[in-house]
Amino acid sequence: MIKAYAASEPGGQLIPFEYDPGKLKTEEVEIDVEYCGICHSDLSMLDNEWGMTQYPFVPGHEVVGKIAAVGDGVAQLKVGQRVGLGWFANSCMHCEWCMSGNHNLCLTAEGTIVGRHGGFADKVRAHQNWIVPLPEDIDPAVAGPLFCGGITVFNPIVQFDIKPTDRVGVIGIGGLGHMALGFLSAWGCDVTAFSTSPDKEEEARQMGANHFVNSRDPQALEAIANSLDAIISTVSADLDWSTYIVALRPKGRLHFVGVAPNPISSQLFPLILGQKSISASPLGSPTTVARMLEFTARHKISPITETYSFDRVNEAMDKLRHGKPKYRLVLKH
Ligand code: NAP
Ligand code: ZN
Repeated sequence: MIKAYAASEPGGQLIPFEYDPGKLKTEEVEIDVEYCGICHSDLSMLDNEWGMTQYPFVPGHEVVGKIAAVGDGVAQLKVGQRVGLGWFANSCMHCEWCMSGNHNLCLTAEGTIVGRHGGFADKVRAHQNWIVPLPEDIDPAVAGPLFCGGITVFNPIVQFDIKPTDRVGVIGIGGLGHMALGFLSAWGCDVTAFSTSPDKEEEARQMGANHFVNSRDPQALEAIANSLDAIISTVSADLDWSTYIVALRPKGRLHFVGVAPNPISSQLFPLILGQKSISASPLGSPTTVARMLEFTARHKISPITETYSFDRVNEAMDKLRHGKPKYRLVLKH
């Protein structure tokens, strides 16, 4: 039996829950969970905000742990090896997208917490191809957040060929946003943090921001018109997106990874005249995760975390719900 924490209804408390995972499949890997980060998506799923949650619901998709068991068809991974698991737990491995290294775009990719039980547990399982070894020089106690939040903000840098000479903004300095500052700074970019929390300024600068803009100050936003090559939004709220489109230079891109609840809209002329783009993306492929981990280790980038024991999971979820983490909460056994 796997011992987990589950909610039985939208927004419910997470309470101890046991389930029988059945026989380990040929290409499956079972991980002994050591740590699991808490992503805002765990909260959105807990509340069934996206209409795809099944209850009992076990959150958790920023897992770090050691391999407990491997199926007969698992070649590369070994029992005892320390690994990580993120949002995706499986993909078909034969479609155009999997075959071209874009597994995160597979139309039948399976979410670790969508219709299956996640990492708020003593054990979790996933397909071997979505489990990535953790390099020894990354501290496992803070590494979990890299496997969802980290790759989600690293992937656009790779996909859209962001250059060291680019000026890039990050909206929202939370779990994803704080890691984006570190990556973009190490990449060589001139980095602007957009935040509603002026008390984050000093830390944002330490994480790599060259500029800090209070996003509740309309004049501060106007002052940066026409200055950025790309902006990555990590907020789970509706903002006045037109202001950010104005902040882009010609050929600039407003890229969404945060899930704003309502449709986004824009006048077309600011996009047409400046040949600007609006885009979005989900996490990254397993090989991009491995590249991110190598980059993270080389540049000594570390997620800033606050650790809770698993039995305080509800307290931690509450803290995230009220927007208080600095910057990522991690559960520990
Ligand atoms: P988080 O830790 O809660 O951070 C979000 C940040 O957004 C907050 O720290 C805050 O930063 C800002 N914010 C929050 N509410 C706001 C509001 N009403 N107005 C303006 N700013 C606000 O969340 P997270 O874990 O980083 O996740 C962020 C989003 O990304 C969520 O929607 C999550 O579901 C999504 N996500 C998407 C993917 C993907 O594949 N695309 C993967 C992971 C997560 P400031 O205090 O600096 O303003
Ligand atoms: Zn996530």
